[in-house]
Amino acid sequence: MSRITIKDLTFETSIPEATILERVERVAEKLNKDMADKTPLFLAVLNGSFMYASDLMKFINIPCEISFVKVASYAGTESSGKVTEVIGLNEDITGREIVIVEDIVDTGHTMERMLEILKKKNPANIHISTLLLKPGKLQVPLDIEYAAMEIPNDFIVGYGLDYDQQGRNLRDIYTLVQE
Ligand code: 5GP
Ligand code: MG
Repeated sequence: MSRITIKDLTFETSIPEATILERVERVAEKLNKDMADKTPLFLAVLNGSFMYASDLMKFINIPCEISFVKVASYAGTESSGKVTEVIGLNEDITGREIVIVEDIVDTGHTMERMLEILKKKNPANIHISTLLLKPGKLQVPLDIEYAAMEIPNDFIVGYGLDYDQQGRNLRDIYTLVQE
């Protein structure tokens, strides 16, 4: 176990790189089977999923495409609260088999909103692949077919995930130390 400090917080190694890669390979094997004849379009959600997307794709051995999107979330003018947008999607996804590649699904609200937006563009199917899932935090029903790992409710950083934009470069996953 190694401890690191990012800004004002202390984190401790919780999932080493080797374990992450084993789990990522397992998810890729499932995708290779399920999507064998579907030429899926992987849509990786930046910034958090860049490392997961990169490692996942190295284990994918079927015909496929990858593209990158961002989810912008901001306070809207209406009483409905937050507005979410998917930006950077240049592909026509009509009739395509889509696999969303996310870093983490927490409450699930971001993913739910993304699904709504993408469904309007008439893809054949949308599947969800997330590196991490916090089942204890999930607030909306989501069919997450490809989760690499399930974790407790603690805040984590590393392997693409940030604390205040730092820590994305870490190879392992670290959990916040509650002091
Ligand atoms: P949701 O909409 O599912 O509640 O939240 C999704 C977003 O919250 C993720 O894409 C991620 O940016 C952020 N998030 C949730 N839990 C964590 C965590 O433990 N660590 C980090 N770094 N980000 C998190
Ligand atoms: Mg994210």
